[in-house]
Amino acid sequence: MSTPFNDPRLIGIAWRLDRLRWVPTDLLAEIVGRDGSCLTSDPHDEPPAEARTDREFAALLCAGCPVQDECLELDLRTAGEDTAGVFGVLPDDDRRDLLMHWRQRGERAEGGD
Ligand code: SF4
Repeated sequence: MSTPFNDPRLIGIAWRLDRLRWVPTDLLAEIVGRDGSCLTSDPHDEPPAEARTDREFAALLCAGCPVQDECLELDLRTAGEDTAGVFGVLPDDDRRDLLMHWRQRGERAEGGD
């Protein structure tokens, strides 16, 4: 049975984020602010209406965003346990569960305690 401690999906995401390990946090923020779909779309766009769960809402909101991993890495570094809302295609519950796997991957550029 999969638990947050052995969830292969979360472990795989933590591995994938290693490629951003040494990217400075300021640069991640710049990239996400410039290219993030939810930040560059028309503010009058309606939010996705078909979502029934937070996970479905995250998948719809972030679908096709070109900086999903950068967004997720940035949130893990800067919000940690206090994260809220949707970032990087994950709802906050999933990001809190991901945090332990991400931290186990070791040092980051900065802000990754
Ligand atoms: S991954 Fe999602 S929350 Fe992050 S910038 Fe892209 S659309 Fe926005």
